[in-house]
Amino acid sequence: MARIARYYREYGVRLVRGFMQYVWDDGGRRYVDCNTNHGVAFLGHANPKIVEAVKRQVEEVWAVSLNFQTPARERFIEEFSKLLPAKFGTVFLQNTGTEAVEVAIKIAKKITRRPTIVAFTNSFHGRTMASLSITWNEKYRKAFEPLYPHVRFGKFNVAAEVEKLVGEDTCCVVVEPIQGEGGVNPATPDFLKALREETSRKGALLIIDEVQTGFGRTGAVWAFQKYGVEPDIFTAGKPVAGGLPIGLAVAREEYGDVFDPGEHGSTFAGNAVVMAAAAAASKLLREEDVPARAERAGAELAKALSETGSRLAVRVKGMGLMLGLELRVKADQFLQPLLQRGVLALTAGVNTLRFLPPYMITREDVEVVQAAVAEALRGAEAAQQ
Ligand SMILES: *Cc1c(COP(=O)(O)O)cnc(C)c1O
Repeated sequence: MARIARYYREYGVRLVRGFMQYVWDDGGRRYVDCNTNHGVAFLGHANPKIVEAVKRQVEEVWAVSLNFQTPARERFIEEFSKLLPAKFGTVFLQNTGTEAVEVAIKIAKKITRRPTIVAFTNSFHGRTMASLSITWNEKYRKAFEPLYPHVRFGKFNVAAEVEKLVGEDTCCVVVEPIQGEGGVNPATPDFLKALREETSRKGALLIIDEVQTGFGRTGAVWAFQKYGVEPDIFTAGKPVAGGLPIGLAVAREEYGDVFDPGEHGSTFAGNAVVMAAAAAASKLLREEDVPARAERAGAELAKALSETGSRLAVRVKGMGLMLGLELRVKADQFLQPLLQRGVLALTAGVNTLRFLPPYMITREDVEVVQAAVAEALRGAEAAQQ
């Protein structure tokens, strides 16, 4: 028997079931899921409303290329449109976050005909070649160089340097409103505003990568809405199809015809089952007021994480239900102790524990997370002495 290639850390846990904010292992043990497959299961595992839509679609039709119309896609665009600020009239369908970033870059290149992409320290935009080129961490990039050569990295959140950074050669600036993989670092309002002003002045496009922040997690449907800064293009992905693979770039109406027929494409993009799931997810987001619930639950979780009483804890970072607990020590040593205490989490950067729970996480769940984190940190303090 072949084996699955190994490039992920193994936690020795076999998950067999998920429902809403919980997953269960093969021994019947329940976990509060703050990992959610890197934020994918933000609307809960097997959310009944999404399950219902997928079941119906599976019986109808699965594979319909973008050359044809199909009701699942029509329902998706109708529901998804209700989540878009007025000027965003075109959606480019892809299958993953990294592809969403790739198509956004392609749009910017074709419109501006300029070479250079500006990105930032501690950025993460994906693992395919162009997205990887604008991802900061050397660990992800080094072995695969040379990558796309025309990339300039600026310092994240240094508004004073933005004017120098964006030039006549710049096709686009790509930025996360809150850096996810890089450490749960929110952009400052000044910084995003400077990027907006400078890109407009120089004729470059501003691309905001909402693959992790987008779709309600931060307390707004899109994080840029919290900043009052509108990009030219934004990307989305992870939770948009309730757990099925999706990525999309959303652009202003006038960019809708930027590609000639056949100039861009993707076999699986707009898959009918994925579209049915994304339509149901979009409807649910609105009807259940998910962003407001994420904001409220996030405030509870942030407070709980700031009260672990551990001297290893530095501060809580993030917005809504995208939260990081910055530590004085490396964070990855705590994932296993958290697992043993019934909590799945993530790391971000080197020193940050990251929590991306589903929006329906309850006060009791928050207490479980707080107790697990406090105990895990106490364990490390004891070992240090
Ligand atoms: C996860 C992520 C991506 C890449 O998404 P994939 O679906 O893994 O390709 C891109 N940008 C950001 C901000 C992300 O968090």
